[in-house]
Parts: sequence; C-alpha cells; structure tokens
Amino acid sequence: AKEQGGGTFAHFDPTMRHQAVARLRLEADLVTALRRDELQLFYQPIMALGERRLMGFEGLVRWIHPKEGVIPPSQFIEQAEESSLILDIGAHLFNQACAQAARWRRLLGDGAPTISVNLSARQFADPALIRLIDSAMASHKVPGKALKLEVTETSILAHADLVLNQIHAIRERGLAVVIDDFGTGYSSFSHLLQFPIDGLKIDRRFVAQIGQDRRSTAIVDAMITLARSLELNLVAEGIETPEVANYLTAHGCWGGQGYLFDRPLSAEAAMQRLELALPE
Ligand code: C2E
Ligand code: CA
Ligand code: CA
Ligand code: CA
Repeated sequence: AKEQGGGTFAHFDPTMRHQAVARLRLEADLVTALRRDELQLFYQPIMALGERRLMGFEGLVRWIHPKEGVIPPSQFIEQAEESSLILDIGAHLFNQACAQAARWRRLLGDGAPTISVNLSARQFADPALIRLIDSAMASHKVPGKALKLEVTETSILAHADLVLNQIHAIRERGLAVVIDDFGTGYSSFSHLLQFPIDGLKIDRRFVAQIGQDRRSTAIVDAMITLARSLELNLVAEGIETPEVANYLTAHGCWGGQGYLFDRPLSAEAAMQRLELALPE
C-alpha cells in the first residue's frame, strides 16, 4: 500500500472506505430508482419579463424516494456524473421531458411552453446523444422547437471539437442550445461565443447581487449588452425579489425565472399553473 502524507495507509482509512461504500450504495440505489421511475422532472416556469408571460419551463430532477422523501439533485447528480450512470439517467429524463412536452402540445398546440433540459458534460460529449434525441422525439412525436438543451460552459470547452458537431446536429433538429451558469467558468466570453448557440442563462450568484454589489450588477449589465448585440436569448435565473425583476426588465433582459414567480413544480402543479396562465 502507498503511504500517505500523514503516515496512515490509504486502505486502512475508515472514512475513505466509508465513502467508497456509500458511493457504491448510492449507485445501486439510483439504478433501482430508475427502474421504479422515482426520478421525476419538476418544472420551473421561465417568464418573458416584459409581458410577465409564461414562455417555458426548465426541467429539474428530483428523486422521489419512498423512505427519504424528495431528494434534490445536489445529493446525487454529481456522483452519477462520475460514472456512466448519468447517461442512463439523462436518457430517462430526456424521454420524460418529451412525454411531458407532447402532453402540453396536445392541449395547447404550437403555443405550448418549451421545456429546457439540463445536460451533463458526459451526455453532451456522448456520440449516442443525437440518436437518443431522435428516438425520443420520434416516439413522443414532438418537434425540436418544443425543447431546449442547457449545457454549462465547462462541458462545452472540455470537449470543444466534438461538441461543435453535436451543437450543429442538435440545432439542425430544431432544438435550441443554451449556455447555463454563464460567467461562472473560467473561459473567456469571446472563446465561448464562437460556438453557435441560441442563448445564455445568467447564473443565480450574479442575479442575487443585483442592486447590492456593484461588480455583480456591472457583470449583469455587460451580459445584457452582449446578448442583445449578438441577438442571443437571455434568461436570468434565481430572481427572488421584485426589485431584481424590475431592474432586469428595465435593462432589457428578455427572460427570467426564480422563486419570485414560482418554485420548481411537479408535472401536475405545472399543468395547473399553465391553465391559470391561459387566456379565458
Ligand atoms: P441549474 O441548472 O443551475 O438550476 C438552477 C437551480 O436553481 C435549481 O436547483 C433551481 O431549483 C434553483 N432555483 C431556481 N430559482 C431559484 C431562486 O429564485 N432562488 C434560489 N435560491 N434557487 C433557485 P436544483 O433544482 O436543486 O438543481 C441544482 C442543479 O442540479 C442544477 O443547477 C443542475 O446543474 C443540476 N440538475 C438539475 N436537474 C438536472 C437534470 O435533469 N440533469 C442534469 N444533468 N443536471 C440537473
Ligand atoms: Ca439549468
Ligand atoms: Ca443555471
Ligand atoms: Ca446554477
């Protein structure tokens, strides 16, 4: 065994063994959860800020655990990303999003809200992604324009050459590609914006500081200017107060989501929310 800095032996470290066991347990539990359909997308409304109109939903996964209750993605997505399990989870959730989009389109036709799906870096770099998209869209009969994919800047730049082809193939099918958590990575804007994308999402950590912190406010202003001049769709996430919503609206940010409008809702609650938003 290799001796570690502190003079202890790695394989005798009880906390490490505990972590390894916990990870295996989590992976096994997630496989079961998938089989039992316990991973469910919740839907958070995305509003057009000007008209305060509901334009779409972001799908956010929750694990509806029979004993533990509702488990948030922070408790299992990162671990799933460390193995290929994220590919199975991602495929399952993409199909679930297509099924939901199809339901809403049956009721509302072309005016139905879009669904934005979060893709992990592994999924985005997976050559099988396009086949998954094609088969899910075909089996649920949804057009590409009903869907958006959210990817982080890190996952774009991690596999830049491969990802460029993926983005082209995705957009050829009519789905929009949006950069999530914009500004939180270490990439330069100019490098990132060479990719043919449809929109940007301003991360919550900047949005929350609007009007409180001058630097964050200046960054948000710059992103709005950038998105407008490049004709990119722009959504601010994590809007919690009317002051922040008003600031963003007045400065020309197109869209927003956050607890001020709605929390992520179950599919049924999202349906009720939609009915409320419909004209009489
Ligand atoms: P994200 O994609 O940046 O999602 C935004 C997070 O902010 C969500 O947390 C959402 O519930 C939360 N949020 C929305 N509005 C507000 C607000 O006004 N205030 C505050 N404090 N928070 C707000 P959530 O649902 O816990 O998801 C966390 C992260 O987990 C997501 O960050 C995303 O990276 C990942 N994730 C969620 N669902 C999926 C999925 O289906 N697939 C993959 N690969 N990742 C997912
Ligand atoms: Ca997202
Ligand atoms: Ca985000
Ligand atoms: Ca985020």
